[in-house]
Order: sequence, then C-alpha cells, then structure tokens
Amino acid sequence: MTTERVDPRTPTGFVPQHVDTSIVELPVGFIDAMSSAESTDDILRVAATWVPALIPLATSSVALVTADDTELELFALGGSAVLPLGLRLQIDGSLTGRAVRTRQTIVTPNILDETGTELGPLAADGVRSVLNVPIIGGSICFGTLNAAHSEEDFFTDPSVRLLSTIARLVGLQLRVHTQIASQTHAARTDVLTGLLNRRAILDHLAERLQDHEAAPPAILFIDLDGFKAVNDSHGHAAGDAMLVEMARRFEGVLRTEDALGRLGGDEFLVVCDEGVDGHRAMQIADRITEACVEPFGFGSFSISPGASIGVAAARSRSHTAAQLLNEADAAMYLAKRNRTGPVRADAHIEARTARIGAVDRELDAAMESGLISFHYQPVRHLTTGEILGAEALLRWDHPVHGMISPFEIIGRAEMTGRIEALTAWSLDTVCRTWASLSKEFPHFWEKAASFNLSPQQLSWRGYCDMHLETIERHGLRRHDVIVEVVESGTIDVGTAAEATLQQLGSEDVIIGLDDFGTGHHALGYFTRFPIHAIKFDRSLIMELPKSSSARSIVKGLAHIAAEIGITAVGEGIETQAEADICVELGLEQGQGFLLARPMPIDDLRALIRHETPQRP
Ligand code: C2E
Ligand code: MG
Ligand code: MG
Repeated sequence: MTTERVDPRTPTGFVPQHVDTSIVELPVGFIDAMSSAESTDDILRVAATWVPALIPLATSSVALVTADDTELELFALGGSAVLPLGLRLQIDGSLTGRAVRTRQTIVTPNILDETGTELGPLAADGVRSVLNVPIIGGSICFGTLNAAHSEEDFFTDPSVRLLSTIARLVGLQLRVHTQIASQTHAARTDVLTGLLNRRAILDHLAERLQDHEAAPPAILFIDLDGFKAVNDSHGHAAGDAMLVEMARRFEGVLRTEDALGRLGGDEFLVVCDEGVDGHRAMQIADRITEACVEPFGFGSFSISPGASIGVAAARSRSHTAAQLLNEADAAMYLAKRNRTGPVRADAHIEARTARIGAVDRELDAAMESGLISFHYQPVRHLTTGEILGAEALLRWDHPVHGMISPFEIIGRAEMTGRIEALTAWSLDTVCRTWASLSKEFPHFWEKAASFNLSPQQLSWRGYCDMHLETIERHGLRRHDVIVEVVESGTIDVGTAAEATLQQLGSEDVIIGLDDFGTGHHALGYFTRFPIHAIKFDRSLIMELPKSSSARSIVKGLAHIAAEIGITAVGEGIETQAEADICVELGLEQGQGFLLARPMPIDDLRALIRHETPQRP
C-alpha cells in the first residue's frame, strides 16, 4: 500500500511522498480478538478497543462506505464503543473520500492548510494533523480508519505503519464476514421473490418455537387462488410476475417484525412477531386478503387474484414446527374448499394433525412391533350361513389417538412414500395368517382371504411379482388371496394400476371390485378388467328395503354378473330385512355386522372352531 503525504504548501496538489507502510507487529491480544470477531459490529468494536490503546494520544474514528457507494458514514472509536457521529461525507469531493477513491493512505500534517475540506472545522477542536487509512479487503474498500492529533505533523512513519496494519486486518476480516453474509443471504433467499426461502422461514419458525423467553408464535399459511390457471394459460412469465407482485403486496401489509417466506409454488408463510396471538393473526390474514382484491394484470390480461389463508397459533412450546405447519395447512385447505376467507385451526384440526403427525412418525415402528394389524370379517353364504372366507381389514389402535382408520393409514403411507413397504408388509402378514389358519383348519383350505388394494397400491409396477412371490413363500395358491380393488372406479385404461390388474388376471389371481354401486362404476367394468367378483357397497344395500330402484339396480347387475360368471357379494348387511332382500335379488354371498363383525384373528379362530361341525 502506498501513502500520500500531503504537502502543506500545495493544499490542492497532494504531492505524495512515499513512505513505508509495511506491516508492523501487533499485540497478540488484538489479533486474537480480531480473528474471533463474528460480525461487522464485532470487528469495529475490536478496533474501537485497540486503536485508542495503540495510538494513545490521538482521537480515532472510522468512516464506512454507505450501501449506495456514494457517501461515508462517520463513527467515533473509543472505550470499546463505536458511536455514530451523525455525519456523512460525499466520497467525491471530500479528503477522506479521496483515501477511498485512490485507496491510498493520506497524511495531512496541518489541517489549517486544508480549511476548504471537511477537516477545516476540526481546527476549532484543536486538531492539527490527520491520518486517513483506507480499509481494504480483497477488491473492496470498506471505508477509512482515521486518527487525529493536536500536534502538527504528528503522524510519522511508525504511526502510519501501525494504523495501516490495523486497517489491513480490519479490511480482511470485514471481507470474510461480508462474504459469509452474502453466501448466507443467497442460501436463505427465494430467488424469484427475494423473500426468505422455505428453509429459512422454517428455520425461523423452529427458532421462534425454541425461544423460551417469548410467547409461542402464530403463523399464516397462504395459498394463492387462481395461480395455476395463470401459469397454465398465460405462461410461466405471467405466473412468476404474479408471485412477485403478491409477495410485494403481502410485504406491504405486514409489519417488518413479521417474517414472510415463500414455501414453494404459490405457497407463502408468515411467522408473526412475538405478541401476536391467534386473534391478531386473523386480523393480519384479513389484511392480506384485502391486499389481494386489486386486480393483477400482465400484458393484456387481468385477473382478480385471491388467497386462501390458514392460521394456527402454538399454545405451547411442545408444538413442533411441522405440527403447527400442518395445522395451518389443514385450516388453509378448509378456507380454500369452503371459500370462507381465512380459517383459524381449531381443536378439531389440532387433534387431527397431531394424529397425522403420529401416523407419519410411528408407521414404520408400528408395522414392526405389530401395533398395526389386521382384523378379519367373515364372508358368509347368505342362505346356509357358512363362512366362505374373510376380508382382511387394516387396524391401528393407537395408545394416544385411538383407532386410526385404514383410509388414514393408507393415505398417509401414500403421501409419505411408504406405501410399497406397507403393501408388502400387509400382504405378507395376511398370507402368513391365512397359511396358519389353513393348517389349523384343513376344511378351511377352500376359503379365500380378501385383501384390499387402492389404485395407488396397484400402480406399483412390481406389485404382481411381489404378490406371486409372497403367496408362494407362504405355501398358498393363487386363488387363496382375492385382490379387492377399492375405488376401482378411478382406474383408467392405460394406467399403471390397470396394467397391474391385467397382469394379476393373467396370472390367475382372483380380482374383486369393492364398493360397487357407489356411483363411479359402469357396466363397462365387467369387460374392462379381468374380474371375478363384485361387492355391492353398504350405501346401496341400506337402500334396498326402502327403494325399489335400488332393488332394480342390484337385481339387474347381479343377473348380469351371474350370466358372465362373476360372484356378487352384498356388503354392510346390518339387518335381517337387508339380508333377505339380497337373497331375493340373487346374491349368494354377504358380509356385514349382522353376519359377523370384523374381529382379531384369534376371535376368528374361535368362531371357526365353534362353527365347525364336531366329528362324531
Ligand atoms: P371396505 O373394503 O369396503 O371394507 C368394509 C368396511 O365396512 C370395513 O370398514 C368394515 O368394518 C365395514 N363394515 C363391514 N360390515 C359393516 C356393516 O354391517 N355396517 C357398517 N356400517 N360397516 C360395515 P373399515 O375396516 O373401517 O374399512 C374401511 C375401508 O378401508 C375399507 O372398505 C377399505 O376400502 C379400506 N381398507 C381397509 N383395510 C385396507 C387395506 O388393507 N388396504 C387398503 N388399501 N384399504 C383398506
Ligand atoms: Mg374391501
Ligand atoms: Mg366395500
């Protein structure tokens, strides 16, 4: 680094006299303190502690370049404090600014010769000589480190070298920290909107939940309405513009203390500041809703945007970030579905999301430990009452949340990517049970277990191979396990689920359609899939005693089924009247509380034993 010594005789000429600015040794304490400083403030505080100590008779200050690169902001250094002086200097046109522009140290031996500069007024305070050293780190000049003294020509080579060495260390340290800060900023920023990104806003939420000093936070889960339509019909540029515009509008109605982030897609999250309870969070949600009212235009089109907002407030710190987010998400879903405006998560939503959280966390362990199991509901011959088989129904009696429905178990496993593991585990469990039952009751050998599969389970391309391998491993035959397709009405031709059904059919696996008559089914199903059985849903069965059209539908379908060799089963039979009508309409098989409830396997064993005729 070079140094300019201002020649007092040529105040505007600045004839530099090159002096030695080589590095001097600094106290170890200073170097330790500087290298462990963790922020710009820390770095300046270290300078404030050490500069007055190392150049004792001078007053020292620092001038920092402002964000717009046009000015210098002045701070006094002293007693380990950095005090704003409330003064700003133009970089162009000031002597201190010149040190920044030229990146050279400037020594002013007598400011009385510089009365036209910003140093002039210092004379009244008794200052005579001034030293300005640029603070440089890499390619950046952060400002200047300055010292002033009451003697003329006070700053000679030793003090110049000392302040230069200090400034060099300050510059290096500032550079390291601005780099870290800019990397951290980039890693925490959503590129499109400039808001906090998903990770940053979720980290912030987690931190707020862990802050034991403050009340637990309230959050707003915002999902834009109509975003997909804009994206699909006007292109991604329009979609992006809408996201940016909405982000600006949301920022406009939030206080700076409330953190706003983009979770991804068209989802945003607000983590409210301390002291905002659920009630106030709802008021914020109303402001956000209002901010959406104004139409959004892009090119020649214009739409009225909207936002569905779910609000959740943590009642205690035992609330996890994931749980709070799920509650707000569930409330948002209600807001979207019912178009009610912002919805606040209530006790019902809380309980439900707590249960979902438990299902997600504990599913794997519950399979392993046997907490999830199967109950079996016998299928009977409607006239003889003989047990023809049983349907395996998934059960999870949770110690905290009670009975968790099979829909919820399957649904969560599908959503969390564990459906294949659950499916393989389920089939293995059912086959093992069935094999042991067949061994125990040789006459049961001809009975079949019904095993439910959702379309998503059937979409697993390896399902058929896994199915065949599993039943073989347990010594069962292909017709011992009937695949019962739930929601079969949603399976389209050409899908992976349909391919699996065709594969299973060609391997002689028996396929039944569940929930028949619930509205999704058409007669085409008889020919589209390789099916062997249909199960009339309880909603249709319960109509039979009072509705002649329900009776006509069941009678017609049962007739067609019989014609083409398909077994028809009545499900959910609760009354004798329903059972009688089923028989009248041509159904041979039935299932329902009247005939037998779903039961644990040991109860089924006992029932079979009880109903098996004793040999003389
Ligand atoms: P589903 O296959 O139609 O099973 C029949 C459901 O009706 C069972 O409910 C059963 O307990 C109930 N039920 C039986 N008889 C009666 C009755 O007389 N009256 C009434 N009101 N209900 C009766 P559950 O066990 O809660 O199962 C509900 C659904 O969950 C099943 O409907 C099936 O779609 C699905 N599910 C159960 N286990 C599995 C499984 O292992 N995998 C898949 N994918 N789905 C399963
Ligand atoms: Mg079923
Ligand atoms: Mg059913």
